[in-house]
Amino acid sequence: MTVEVLADLLPISDSHGWHRAACRGDPNHEAWFPYPSQDFEYARAVCGRCPIRPDCRGFAERTGQSGVWGGHEFDRGKMIRE
Ligand code: SF4
Repeated sequence: MTVEVLADLLPISDSHGWHRAACRGDPNHEAWFPYPSQDFEYARAVCGRCPIRPDCRGFAERTGQSGVWGGHEFDRGKMIRE
């Protein structure tokens, strides 16, 4: 099985709302794992209209995720850019 988008990783969470993730089916995979020199306005805008944003952020913190989650960028569960 190929993981296509970030939302495909989310069902391992204990939340039952991941099917409502705004990033579900998003084709811009790289946007969710920006280089340090890259902004992440695209991902931030998608997260801004996501109904499960608080859950997503909490999940990233609890489980040590990297990339853009809940509109913020994380490195192994630590927020590095707001
Ligand atoms: S907050 Fe952002 S990364 Fe998290 S599920 Fe929603 S759109 Fe995806």
